[in-house]
Parts: sequence; C-alpha cells; structure tokens
Amino acid sequence: MANNITFIGKGKPNPKHFGKTMPKYGQIKNTIGIISGKGGVGKSTVTGILASTLSKKGYKVGVLDADITGPSMPRFFGVNGKRAGIEPIDQENFKYDPVISEGNVKIMSMNLMMPKEDEPVIWRGPVVTSVLTQLFTDTKWGELDYLLIDMPPGTSDITLTVMQSFPIDELIVVSTPQDMVSMIVKKVVNMAKKMNVPIRGVIENMSYINCPGCDTKIRVFSKKSAEEHSVNLGVPLLGELPINVDLTEALEEGRAEEYVRDNDLYSLIFEALY
Ligand code: ADP
Repeated sequence: MANNITFIGKGKPNPKHFGKTMPKYGQIKNTIGIISGKGGVGKSTVTGILASTLSKKGYKVGVLDADITGPSMPRFFGVNGKRAGIEPIDQENFKYDPVISEGNVKIMSMNLMMPKEDEPVIWRGPVVTSVLTQLFTDTKWGELDYLLIDMPPGTSDITLTVMQSFPIDELIVVSTPQDMVSMIVKKVVNMAKKMNVPIRGVIENMSYINCPGCDTKIRVFSKKSAEEHSVNLGVPLLGELPINVDLTEALEEGRAEEYVRDNDLYSLIFEALY
C-alpha cells in the first residue's frame, strides 16, 4: 500500500517534511541531495562513491539520478545496459522497479527508461520537472536508510524544484579547488540557505594527486588546502578526494562500484560521515 510519510533518524516522522512530495512506495530514513556549482566537478562520481561506501557498510541505499540531461549513475554502477521495470496501475499511473547494482544499490535514472542510453532528452523544463517528480514518487524504493539524489548542476529550475518540493534532509556540496573560490559554487550554497535546506558540508574533489613513489600530496590546482577553501565557502569540509586515474578507468569500464568497494581510501574518507 502507498505510504506517504518519510522517516528520519530512528524511524520517527519528520514534521519538517509535511507538505512535501513523498515517495508512494517506500520508507526513506535520510534523503541527501548532492549539489555543485557547475558540471564536470565530479558530483555524480562522488554520489556513486558515497552510495557504494554506504552500501558496503551495510546500509540500504538508493540513488535517484536527477541530473536528467547528463545522467551518469547507470554507468557508474555498470547497469547502463539494463532497463527499469514499468508496472501499469491504470491508464495514467505506473510503478517503477529500480535497477539493482551488484553491490545492492537501487538506481533510478531517466537513462534506464530510454530505449538507448545515448538518446537525448529533448523536453522543456516543466516536463523534465514533472517526469523527475514521478521517478521520485512512483519508484518502488522499499525501505531505505539513504536515498542519494544526484542533482543537476547549478541553480536551475530543476534544482529549485528538488530543493523546494522533495523532502531533502541535507545537502552535500561537491567542488574542485578552483571552483571552491568561485562565485558559482557560492550561488548554489546561498540558494540552499535561502530555501532553508541544511548543508552538511563540502567534499573537495580532485584536491591533489598522490606523488608516485613518495608520500607527498601534490596540489595541482591550488596551493591552498581544502580546509582553507571550505572556510572561504562557509561550510564544513567533509573530505578531500584525489585525482585518481584508476577510478576514471574503472568508470569507463563500468566497474566503479566494485573499485570503490575494494579501495580502502574511499571507506576511510567517508568513515566519519555516516
Ligand atoms: P559532474 O557530475 O560534476 O558533471 P562527473 O562525476 O561526471 O562530474 O565527473 C566528470 C569527469 O571527471 C568524469 O569523466 C569522471 O570520471 C572524472 N572524475 C571525477 N572525479 C574524479 C577523480 N577524483 N579522479 C579522476 N577522475 C575523476
């Protein structure tokens, strides 16, 4: 039966979420949006890493790919060849079965609905927003500890809708060192503040490369540390991630989830987070 109350913490209804759009087929304890000022900073990659490490820890995890025009979650989890199940209820309503990864993460993405993954979505903003809302509400999420939402970059119409009408418990900002000091990421941080959506903190991606053969972290893009950048942005630093070519290769080959689960670096970085 449809359940339209989300729960946080130890399963108590969260009064903060009254009046928000709720999933019909699931109980979700924590809904976390992953945001960035612009594209290409690794927002989707960090969403995938977080989902994989949380699921490795034993949590029940789902991922909603809300980056509709650049959906990349199916590729991260190597399920881009699969399609989501569609179950008609009547002529207008449907239930969707998410695709489940090898590591037990439930994934829903527009790309899992398209006949071919390279088919573009040529829709106006309001249509995209309504389809995304359906993917959120009509997917059979079941019981989840965490639903991670890979948000579109920047302060677009869709980001606004997700922040305004979805029951987001907290946001995580992803940024690169150069972007940390730009006004673009500050815009998205300020947008969240204006809409009273709590920001948990920032993850600095591509912070450094590990010097081959020595222990030094080489900061390629900025001499300043991630801590200094986060102070400038005004949100706590949750972690910093290196540029890792092995990860890029794993992503290209559709085995990023396996790579992240097998690599202690990622478990350690996110150890303290949840
Ligand atoms: P966004 O979601 O912000 O648009 P993506 O997560 O799609 O960005 O990442 C953009 C590109 O950068 C991808 O090709 C991804 O493989 C690569 N990438 C992201 N983070 C890293 C990293 N830490 N090390 C190496 N490559 C990375």
